[in-house]
Amino acid sequence: MNDFSADVAVVGLGPAGRAVAHRCAEAGLDVIAVDPHPSRTWTPTYSAWADELPSWLPETAVASTARKPAVWTDHQRIIDRTYCVLDTPALQAALSVDRVRVLAATAVDVTGSRVTTADGSIVDARHVVDARGTLDSRDLAQQTAYGIVVERDRAEPILEGADAWFMDWRTDNGARHGEAPSFLYAVALDDDRILLEETCLVGRPPLELAVLRSRLHHRLTHRNLEPTGHEDVERVRFSVEPPPRSRLHTGRGGPVLFGSRSNLMHPATGYSVAASLAAADHLVERFRGGGRSRPIRPVHVWTVQKLRNLGLRTALALEPEMVPQFFSSFFSLPVELQRSYLSGHDDAFGTMTAMLKMFPTLPASARLAIARTIVRTPGRG
Ligand SMILES: Cc1cc2nc3c(=O)[nH]c(=O)nc-3n(C[C@H](O)[C@H](O)[C@H](O)COP(=O)(O)OP(=O)(O)OC[C@H]3O[C@@H](n4cnc5c(N)ncnc54)[C@H](O)[C@@H]3O)c2cc1C
Repeated sequence: MNDFSADVAVVGLGPAGRAVAHRCAEAGLDVIAVDPHPSRTWTPTYSAWADELPSWLPETAVASTARKPAVWTDHQRIIDRTYCVLDTPALQAALSVDRVRVLAATAVDVTGSRVTTADGSIVDARHVVDARGTLDSRDLAQQTAYGIVVERDRAEPILEGADAWFMDWRTDNGARHGEAPSFLYAVALDDDRILLEETCLVGRPPLELAVLRSRLHHRLTHRNLEPTGHEDVERVRFSVEPPPRSRLHTGRGGPVLFGSRSNLMHPATGYSVAASLAAADHLVERFRGGGRSRPIRPVHVWTVQKLRNLGLRTALALEPEMVPQFFSSFFSLPVELQRSYLSGHDDAFGTMTAMLKMFPTLPASARLAIARTIVRTPGRG
């Protein structure tokens, strides 16, 4: 049992916590980080829109780039926005914590100025960042996916000349009518390898991995790529919502919530990594300013969160056959509005405009489902 003090205590060393710890230490702040497994090697394939990534991130952290990724809703469309797959080990290395005092411990109590660990150690800090991730809970909406990694030459016919499939909603995956839909996500991991992943965007509960595996094999076999069973596999399951507010210490006296534990997680898409990387320097600024500066445009952030939660509830409420139509409308929007909705975490005007522009282009049944979702606003959100 020990007592420590620092300028900043960061709890959780996933991509979000590690980014904050790294950037704060680089800015000369005295940082302590707490994580039960601080040296854990990250394995997920993290991807992002290139324009979301902060300029301080070295180019080596990007493994591959798709300049014009494709989507298939009712036909193929090209998105005029560069998408990239991060090099997970290089990302982890780039977020070096060499200048951070790291405690291999589990935090059991986290306030705005103190972290208490299970072994009784106490860290007092001027600022505490809670980046412990979200909960693996079936009560929260989750994303699931099952993917295999294949050599590029085998995957070429699946790519059909596209740089990547951001979403391919074609129904050749064996799903029966009325079943929850899933889409094919296909990205280059490097020059030689392609990840082919059947993805359930959100569900409460989401599709099981066994179902996604079977759909992926069905789809690929239908497209003349017979999986051998020896491919490397990626299994994805995570909550797209932060823990319920009752499980969080929010407000006065609470820590700064960050990463997938906060509104940096987009609940309708499951993306958070790039937003967390980009937001790390806002915290550095705030902490170097003595904690007096407010988060940027809090009302806008709050509004976007409400709108995004509406997007999540809509995604959960749509009938299966409406989902591709919904994305057809979304990807018909100008790319700036797509960007606002997907990445503008404090862009309330852009998010609202994207949603309002989409609404009249949806089929009547989808508009009705959305209207019902708005009327039936639940407690969360
Ligand atoms: C396979 C997979 C692929 C994904 N792909 C993408 C993607 O392409 N793009 C994207 O944006 N998102 C993706 N996500 C979703 C999400 O962004 C990731 O889950 C991301 O890891 C969230 O980062 P985080 O740092 O907020 O939380 P986490 O990565 O969950 O990190 C939380 C950290 O907190 C630590 N911790 C937990 N409890 C305690 C405690 N009590 N005390 C101290 N430390 C604690 C944990 O050990 C962990 O290191 C993916 C998720 C998965 C599982």
